[in-house]
Parts: sequence; structure tokens; C-alpha cells
Amino acid sequence: MKLLRSGAEVRETLAADRAGGRSIGLVPTMGAFHAGHLSLIAASVARDDVTVISLFVNPAQFGPSEDLARYPRDEAGDAAAAEAAGVGMLFVPTVDEIYPPGFDTWVDPGELGTVLEGAVRPGHFRGVATVCTKLFEIVQPDRAYFGRKDAQQDAVVKQVVRDLALPLEIVACPTVRDPDGLALSSRNAYLTPEERDLALALPRALQAGATTHRSGGDAESAAREILAAADGLEVDYVALADLDGPTLAGAVRIGSTRLIDNIRLED
Ligand code: AMP
Repeated sequence: MKLLRSGAEVRETLAADRAGGRSIGLVPTMGAFHAGHLSLIAASVARDDVTVISLFVNPAQFGPSEDLARYPRDEAGDAAAAEAAGVGMLFVPTVDEIYPPGFDTWVDPGELGTVLEGAVRPGHFRGVATVCTKLFEIVQPDRAYFGRKDAQQDAVVKQVVRDLALPLEIVACPTVRDPDGLALSSRNAYLTPEERDLALALPRALQAGATTHRSGGDAESAAREILAAADGLEVDYVALADLDGPTLAGAVRIGSTRLIDNIRLED
């Protein structure tokens, strides 16, 4: 397993692959791998000759009162999981590598970055768009793999790639869920068993919203009704939006944990 800390090392390591015409897949992550991350890694391993996983808890996408300091980190476990998945290269940059002293150039995704998650987390998508653009520049992948779990993030990244004419394809992979429907998330680790039970209201509400939508009803109201009945769960938003197709997206807070999920209304 090659653990690379600098952009220069990544470029040097990939030079021979690029020269040999081998395709390069990038899976950008913040680490603490679960089966959702592993599904993106498997998609890249299946399609690309070389897969690079980046592991970077990006301070620029966290607000001042968010969970940056306590965000789960497990570099050794992630490296072992990556190796078991057949990946030979992990890019784990330092904060200074991505944001060197004096850094002051940002990629701002505009309107799409200000709604839904962007309305609750101002500046979040500017941080996402900037770090993804920088990772794309360093790795220069043919494809980058993202999860539908973060549908607005996928839409933002696709917009950046289109608007800046970046030469790569964005592949959005399906959301991986626990058998009871809860979308896998590194933040699920914060939940007590009681909070986890309460969190199930989110996928149930989105499912109910999708079913209502298919029969011509109001998806948002149907979902909100279910969430309102979940005592101890606060709703940040439930909204129908065009995130690469009609999508019902929701965000809730349970104690100090914030969870997001979405369902495509076309599927
Ligand atoms: P994160 O480490 O949380 O930033 O996530 C890294 C990538 O994994 C992002 O593209 C996420 O959308 C994706 N991801 C996170 N959770 C899931 C999931 N349950 N299913 C599929 N992809 C996921």
C-alpha cells in the first residue's frame, strides 16, 4: 500500500500509468470507511486500471460550530480496507498541502451551493467544490466516483466539472443502506441505539414521500408528516429539488448528530 502525502508524490507515482495509457479512477473521501465508501471503491476498481483513494477531512467544508474536531478518523483501518479492496494508493494530504499558507483561491458553485444543505451550512459547498477541484488537478483522474447519498454534492461537482471544462467524468453511485433502510454514514457512529431507531424515520419519510409522489400527491407533506411524529428529531428541511433529476431530499438533527438522505423520484 502506497501512502502518499504530497501532490508531487501523487503526480510522480501516476506518471508511468498515464504514459502507459492506463485509466485512473479517483474516490474522494473523508475516511472512516463503511460499505458506502467501499461500493465507490469497488466501482472504480471494476472500471479503471488504477484507483486512487483520497482521504482528507476537509476543514473548509465544516462550519465553525460543526463536528470537524470529533469527525471519526481511522487512517490505519482505512488503509487496510483499501488494500483488501485491491487499491494500492491512498492519498492522505496534510491540511497545509491542500491549503498552503496564504491560500485564498476558491471555487464557488453559486446558486446551487446556497439551497438545501447550502442554506443550513453556508460555505459548505464552496469548501467541497474547492477541495474537489484541487484533488482533480493533483490526480488528474479519468473518472471520479461519488455517492448519491450526497445528491446535492454530486450535482455541485458535476456543475463545477461542466463550468470549468475539467477533463473527467463524474460517476454517481447508488446509496448503500443498512437492511432496515438507514443510509450508511460515518456520522451514524455518533448515534446511541435509541437515536439510531429514531433516525429510521428519515428513510421511511422519504420512501413515503416517493410513494405519495408516484400516486400524484404531495411528497414533501407526506414526508414531513412522518418526521413530525418522530419525537426528538428536528427537521432542517424536506424538499423536492432537481438534483440530477427529481429528488426528495431531507436533513434532520437527532441530539447533536445531523443526518441527510434523499430518494430519486424517477426510480
Ligand atoms: P464522505 O467520506 O462522507 O465524504 O463520503 C465520501 C464519498 O462516499 C461521498 O461521495 C459520499 O457520497 C459517499 N458515500 C457516503 N455514504 C454513502 C452511502 N451510504 N452510499 C453510497 N455512497 C456513500
